[in-house]
Amino acid sequence: MHEDWTLATRSVALGRPAHEPGAPVNPPLELSSTYVAGADPGYGRVGNRTWDALEQTLGGLEGGRCLAFASGMAAVAAALSLVPRGGVVVAPDGAYNTTLSLLEALAADGSVRELRRVDPADTDAVVAALPGADLVWLESPTNPLLEVADLSAIAAAAHDAGAIVVCDNTFATPIVQRPLELGVDVIVHSVTKYLAGHSDVVLGAVVTDRRELGERLHAHRTLHGAIPGPHETWLALRGMRTLALRVERATASAAELARRLGEHPSVSRVRYPGLGAIVSIEIAAGAEAADRVCRATRLWTHATSLGGVESLLERRRRHANEPVVVPEDLVRLSVGIEDVEDLWRDLDQALRSV
Ligand SMILES: *Cc1c(COP(=O)(O)O)cnc(C)c1O
Repeated sequence: MHEDWTLATRSVALGRPAHEPGAPVNPPLELSSTYVAGADPGYGRVGNRTWDALEQTLGGLEGGRCLAFASGMAAVAAALSLVPRGGVVVAPDGAYNTTLSLLEALAADGSVRELRRVDPADTDAVVAALPGADLVWLESPTNPLLEVADLSAIAAAAHDAGAIVVCDNTFATPIVQRPLELGVDVIVHSVTKYLAGHSDVVLGAVVTDRRELGERLHAHRTLHGAIPGPHETWLALRGMRTLALRVERATASAAELARRLGEHPSVSRVRYPGLGAIVSIEIAAGAEAADRVCRATRLWTHATSLGGVESLLERRRRHANEPVVVPEDLVRLSVGIEDVEDLWRDLDQALRSV
């Protein structure tokens, strides 16, 4: 039935108890480490009905089987476990820094024999890197350069080359982009960000429409114990009920701010791909001035992370493991759902103060 529903409806209506007299409208928070013998899940590391509610909702939004993980990075690690030992991985030159650090660690210890770094927006370069590859890692738009990959062209070429394709869909969310429909095999989410949406939980998820990969990812979660807490999945699902509203509002504000920032004398470059609610700007007066901008806002919070209802900003290169392709003076803006005029006034005064 839910195939007829729009994404906004699915995010509200999926993962609820059946409409029966006396049933609660929300899934109960199931706190149990073990279950009476004789039926699934049997034990709390294998399954939990509060996880199920979140997984049904996110799976219904992305169009596949969803598995919740302890964090976005636990989901990334599970997806990378699909690389055969000594395999070849094609990955972006710029992407979420900790994903790249994990890939580099896997390459350093020989788990990955060859790590081929490419510009994901350059489809020809990605395709040229495919022969012999086992897995293509994509993130689109990328964090924080906001490079957009041609997911369907890359997925088709990767499949011809015998590689599986993973896409980190954290920045776009299923409201903006549904990678499985474009041929991607596995989606990874940092649920911490837009899906949960309130900066109060760390959680991850994978979604796949390939049965065999789903079984392997489920086995990985159980064997490695990379499981979420029931409270976290309950909170994330409550946040997801407003996903469409939040993404629509934040995206509209991001587009307006990107337009105004393009004319701001203190800003030398604006990156905004026209989707989602992250805007990256470069500060004309350099990295030190960029740090001062981050400290000069009153409404925007100087903090890492993104995707919450409140607007955040940070200079990404303050992190030692940020890829060097990211300019030193780049400030990433995570636009929240506050009034856009209040956001603009605060940003404008901070930019003018340096
Ligand atoms: C934050 C983030 C992650 C990691 O997720 P955690 O929930 O922090 O472990 C992965 N990918 C992207 C694009 C992210 O922004």
